[in-house]
Amino acid sequence: MSYLDQKEPPRREDRLKACIAYGGSICGMADRQKRCLQDDGERCFTQGSICLLLPGIAILNSIPDSVTLLHGAIGCGSCAHSQNANVRSGSGLRRGKVKDALWLSTALNETDVIGGGEAKLTEAIREADRRYRPSAIFVVSSCVPGIIGDDIEGVVERVQPQVNARIVPIHCEGFKTKVWATAYDAIYHGIGRVLLGEPEEYQPVLVDELGELKEKYRLSRTVNLMNVSSMGRGDEQELARLLRSLGLDVNIFPVFAHPEEMYKATQAAVSVSVCPTHDDYFLKYLQEKFGVPYIIKHMPIGIANTGNWIREVADFFGFQAQAEKLIATEEEEVQAALEEFRPVFAGKKVFVSAGEFRALATTQLLAELGFKIVGIRSFHHDEFAEEEYPKLAAYGEDFPFSIANAQPFEEANLLQRTKPDLFLGHWCSNATATKLGIATHVIYNTGLNYIGYQGAYELARRLYRQLKNPSFSKKLSRYARLPYTKQWYEADPFKYIKAVGSEPNV
Ligand code: SF4
Repeated sequence: MSYLDQKEPPRREDRLKACIAYGGSICGMADRQKRCLQDDGERCFTQGSICLLLPGIAILNSIPDSVTLLHGAIGCGSCAHSQNANVRSGSGLRRGKVKDALWLSTALNETDVIGGGEAKLTEAIREADRRYRPSAIFVVSSCVPGIIGDDIEGVVERVQPQVNARIVPIHCEGFKTKVWATAYDAIYHGIGRVLLGEPEEYQPVLVDELGELKEKYRLSRTVNLMNVSSMGRGDEQELARLLRSLGLDVNIFPVFAHPEEMYKATQAAVSVSVCPTHDDYFLKYLQEKFGVPYIIKHMPIGIANTGNWIREVADFFGFQAQAEKLIATEEEEVQAALEEFRPVFAGKKVFVSAGEFRALATTQLLAELGFKIVGIRSFHHDEFAEEEYPKLAAYGEDFPFSIANAQPFEEANLLQRTKPDLFLGHWCSNATATKLGIATHVIYNTGLNYIGYQGAYELARRLYRQLKNPSFSKKLSRYARLPYTKQWYEADPFKYIKAVGSEPNV
């Protein structure tokens, strides 16, 4: 039985035994005898967490001709405002039309908590359909309906015959999980259950025999390039360029894909993940139900990683020789272009913070560029990154490694100890480092390039500029203060972590 036969996806804590609390070192992670996961430790003090609605809404709002209907308290949709620039620019670049995120909320209040929110949801779905005539309505369930027990599927079943749009329930109840990557499963779960249809529905319309052969040939060389918003348009174009160099066609899925065209994902020759943290849930389903095999191993950030990513795809199609030629040409070009930056990077200390796979892959790129790695913080850990730790340990020097779902107090302590020249952190998470006077750069921004050979060069170029002139952070640190005491900076940064079966060191 597939997970998608159930109404809701499981939590990643249960499905993958994902971990959110660990403090140790990179060699400690690499040397573990136990090749499965860390015990899911907890903190006895925590500064905050990340709701899965944050990545969830970012993906849904990119879907053209759709409405995202948040069923919950009005504040649950607030992150949509900060993400709208990406929706506007992404729509313009991909579909030639600038479009704002279209999201509504049932704005549940105290009365609804007592009386239930199903009537409001029913009316909101009808109103969204009447007002916008969308192709799809994503009904996103947040904490309140999860707690009071609203039957989202029951409402959808009753209302579906009355509206034109296809209604897609998405379960993003924030209280259910501390692993925000569960959002990817939740989105894929809804799309897979409602928008892909059944295999027999998608027989190609055949005009003539030649047309049939051409279409079969095209599909036999089409790759699903999976993107749940970890790539901006520039990064998508870079990977499409590399795949087309091998004679392959590309279907980018699911961000910015029209609901009525999502079935195309079921017809490709193979699906290729760009970030293994994101896609396993859906890729396994595509293989089981539609017979589309998948590749989920490397993240093409970094020169060696990009080469390995290309090799995996080329192996599938039997294009090894063409791939080696392509990789050799690209590497020669990018290495030559990077020469001017290397003297500035050599031996500079860097600390990296992001989602697990992105943090590890970016660290490998930074090591390739000549940086000295002094620390990594990942938001969570699961099985997909196991092979990456020995690669980093092989660079020879041990350094602190932390798994933390947004714990800036631990980060501040680690930064004071390791004193990096540069910090690469996620959106909104560079403030601590900047206030400490460290030059920073964002590790993910859909308006910038990070992926492939072009991404390696573009990131190096930006870091070079940042290191040449770090005066913003230096000046800010003279006036801005962090709230931590001298005692905290001298304490064990991981003292509040409590592994299963042990007591915290407090
Ligand atoms: S944690 Fe719950 S209440 Fe808070 S934003 Fe997420 S879904 Fe809404």
